[in-house]
Amino acid sequence: MVEDDASIGTAMQTALESHGYQVHWFRSGQAATAALELTIPDLVILDVGLPDIDGFTLCRWLRERSSTLPIILVTARDADIDIIVGLDAGATDYVTKPFSMSVLLARIRAHLRSTETADSNAPIELGRVRIEPAAYIASLDGTPIELRTREFELLVYLARHAGRVVTRDRLLADVWDLHWDSSTKTVDMHIAALRRKLGDSIEIVAVRGVGFRLVVL
Ligand code: CA
Repeated sequence: MVEDDASIGTAMQTALESHGYQVHWFRSGQAATAALELTIPDLVILDVGLPDIDGFTLCRWLRERSSTLPIILVTARDADIDIIVGLDAGATDYVTKPFSMSVLLARIRAHLRSTETADSNAPIELGRVRIEPAAYIASLDGTPIELRTREFELLVYLARHAGRVVTRDRLLADVWDLHWDSSTKTVDMHIAALRRKLGDSIEIVAVRGVGFRLVVL
């Protein structure tokens, strides 16, 4: 969430968290950019009127980094031209202030649902590795790779975030459904197994103190 207005930000954060979302709130474009350099979230709520850079610029930058990331623009301007500029800058959707929190939540659900559906159905090609998420099949040069269920799910997750850093906490939360402070040793063991089984087809780079990044070789 990128929003410089304290009262709107607080209201959105409270509503989102009470619906089970994990929220990172940035009050300037610069703070948001620094954080989003490292990781791509599931969805971005982006205020157009920011103190340092305008939301359209940030939106364009984000869209270049991820073609599928849902970006909801929040704007006080409801002139048609702003909506057109926003959508042309790559926004998925927009709400104009003042907006109803329940409408924003419904739109968030809709966007998350559509990315999940698109992701889970499509096979993923990573150079010599092909992954079919729905069938739980991964193959290397056409030969199926023997993976345990959790190893497969970890591979799918890393593959969907290929080229980007994913933190250990994020992996534990999203692949293992554990709370962020659970042991990260489990993650390391599964990463080691994937490296062993995938050989030199892909590389899983450890980013010290942060997490991992999958690189296609
Ligand atoms: Ca603002």
